[in-house]
Amino acid sequence: MNLIFATHNINKFKEVKAQMPPGIELGYLGDLTQDPPLAETADTLKGNAELKMMALANSTRLNCFADDTGLEVAALNGAPGVYSARYAGPEASDSDNIQKLLKALDEQTNRQAQFRTVIALYWEGSVHFFEGMCRGTILQNPIGNQGFGYDPIFMPEGYDLSFAQMSLEQKTQISHRGLAMQKLINWLQEQF
Ligand code: IMP
Repeated sequence: MNLIFATHNINKFKEVKAQMPPGIELGYLGDLTQDPPLAETADTLKGNAELKMMALANSTRLNCFADDTGLEVAALNGAPGVYSARYAGPEASDSDNIQKLLKALDEQTNRQAQFRTVIALYWEGSVHFFEGMCRGTILQNPIGNQGFGYDPIFMPEGYDLSFAQMSLEQKTQISHRGLAMQKLINWLQEQF
């Protein structure tokens, strides 16, 4: 079966592709000639995931899915949350976002945070949602060079490593996106 991931983010694609069981052929936007604009204009993760998925489904009619992820920091009342990608501004780099977050938590003792992912799946004309969450803490300084985004400052609960110090397989087993994807994979496998 063929499935397209509505993302331009090659790091996300690599994580998810490595998780796919045999029999599911996964592509992403880099594999297509169509390049539908993926707006993230909703104010919820679910809304953004659905917008991105629908943009691709409407332009291709292919079975596809999109994810949206937010980092919710307890001491910041859940910010940056749905605005995580643009936390330090519309053109912010991962490093800009990390620096802004570390500054916002300067001298803050409560460093608890969680990543949350919502995936919207378009499958044979119907829409389905899957969610995953990973609790952890925000480190004082970035560490590690794997992964992407906020990985260097996020240490998942029960581990002594940041996400950026983990292998792709190790991160996927416990991560927000890995858990949401596993639910999607289980659902797909139940259909056959
Ligand atoms: P989006 O889901 O691609 O919109 O991501 C929102 C923000 O969260 C971006 O700044 C991403 O870099 C970041 N992000 C998404 N997934 C992860 C992850 O697995 N680890 C670290 N940061 C992530």
